[in-house]
Amino acid sequence: MKLPKIKMTGTAWIVAAVLATAIWPFSTGAEEAKANRLFGAIAAGSTQDPDPVGSYAKGCLAGGLQLPDSGPTWQAMRLSRNRNWGHPALLDYVIDLSERAAKLGWNGLYIGDMSQPRGGPMTSGHRSHQIGLDVDIWMLPPERLNLTKEERESKSSISIRTPDQKNLSGNWTDTHMEILKAAAEHPMVDRIFVTAPAKIHMCRHAGKDRAWLQRIRPLYGHHYHFHVRLKCPPGSTECVTQTPTAAQLSKGGDGCDATLRWWVTGYLEELKKPPKEPAVPVRGVRDYTMADLPERCTQVLASN
Ligand SMILES: [Zn+2]
Repeated sequence: MKLPKIKMTGTAWIVAAVLATAIWPFSTGAEEAKANRLFGAIAAGSTQDPDPVGSYAKGCLAGGLQLPDSGPTWQAMRLSRNRNWGHPALLDYVIDLSERAAKLGWNGLYIGDMSQPRGGPMTSGHRSHQIGLDVDIWMLPPERLNLTKEERESKSSISIRTPDQKNLSGNWTDTHMEILKAAAEHPMVDRIFVTAPAKIHMCRHAGKDRAWLQRIRPLYGHHYHFHVRLKCPPGSTECVTQTPTAAQLSKGGDGCDATLRWWVTGYLEELKKPPKEPAVPVRGVRDYTMADLPERCTQVLASN
């Protein structure tokens, strides 16, 4: 069958495609509207009270606020993605940390992805960042804070680790450590993800003041940016606290232990083996429909 040719702009096409899958009442399986398409198509936060709903990797954000594109000590990057939204506690945190970074000798911070306007699963990238409490912060010290929109699309961050994944590269500086320490000391922080060589280095150089190290967690990737996750804000009733907690993972210590070493030994050995096919295909965030998310997310999506 030949379809009539209709000229559509990019946005109109996405909206039409999303609506087509959303309103078809008898759809099942693959035809059912994907939550990431629905959340990805909405340009602004809901006019509700700010509230994270669900868990970091399965939820949404009511009343999200947009971090201003630029401020005296920060710039949000990749504005075309429209992911500089979050819970007010996250905006406060980002601005506060950027001011500290400026005091520690950088011009401020380049801010990567936070959440979509109403949170939810994304069409690309992250599994988490769904409830307005996660932020990626670039490892690149800002050269200046008047980058144009175009520069913020094309500029890349820098990696602070060697390609063999075992050590820090020459891009790492003492200021990186001071900023990560300041980032981890904030009382709202649940945990921070960073490449293992950075944590190994900080374990060696932290001295006696080590409590903050517990909240620094090693993870694959996270060498172009570090990822800060805030705790559920006080008063929120539907935000799901992550378990195991950072304290449980490190058995109450600083996490400078064998589980940390594994990331530069056993983990790298495992990477050399061919990947095992899962017996049952794993359902990922990009497969989620609204039925997978907390019920309230349907309201958040539909709200003004
Ligand atoms: Zn992240």
